[in-house]
Amino acid sequence: MTKEADIEKTATSLERHNIEVIRAADGDECRKKVLDILPRGASIGMGGSTSVQQVGLLDALRARDYNLHDQYEKGISPEENQRRRRAGLTAQYYITGVNAVSEEGELFFLDGIGNRVAAVSYGPERVILVCGINKLVRDDDEAWKRIRDKAAPLTAKRFGVDTPCAETGVCCDCDAERRICNIYVRIHRAMTPGRITIILVGEQLGF
Ligand code: SF4
Repeated sequence: MTKEADIEKTATSLERHNIEVIRAADGDECRKKVLDILPRGASIGMGGSTSVQQVGLLDALRARDYNLHDQYEKGISPEENQRRRRAGLTAQYYITGVNAVSEEGELFFLDGIGNRVAAVSYGPERVILVCGINKLVRDDDEAWKRIRDKAAPLTAKRFGVDTPCAETGVCCDCDAERRICNIYVRIHRAMTPGRITIILVGEQLGF
């Protein structure tokens, strides 16, 4: 779903649901637009997102004067990792990706632990989502199908977790100890206008 008319329709639906939309042509423009939003010294939490890494945001945030709760820093203990995830839940800003966005203006997420969907739902004052055009779908059926058939197996494979899909690339609705598909969230509408901003990037990002 990458026709301009479809993207505009999705953007209009999101705005109608109190979700602010910013368009960016590519990853570079996306990164600049996110950095323009963030004031110096702001506290920032992050949720797992390949898209955020691909547009160079993680490196940019690390290099600037922010209070970044960076659970991805190499070498930190599991306890410190958890502490930073929790701190991210009450940060001023939260930056992550989204698994699918429907033309009806709804956001779809799959989470393993739950910190990302918790923060997107409530906690941080502002949430910024980075979204490539490959995440745009028609409706909720297509959104869940995209997550089940593509996003989840590819994520498991990329991180090499011990699940059947990491081997086969196909979801079998497993009950593995390390199953990553544990919490599904659909956001129909934001109660507070402008709390959630989505950057729609005109290229493919993430899974
Ligand atoms: S339910 Fe299991 S097999 Fe299916 S995508 Fe998730 S982790 Fe993989």
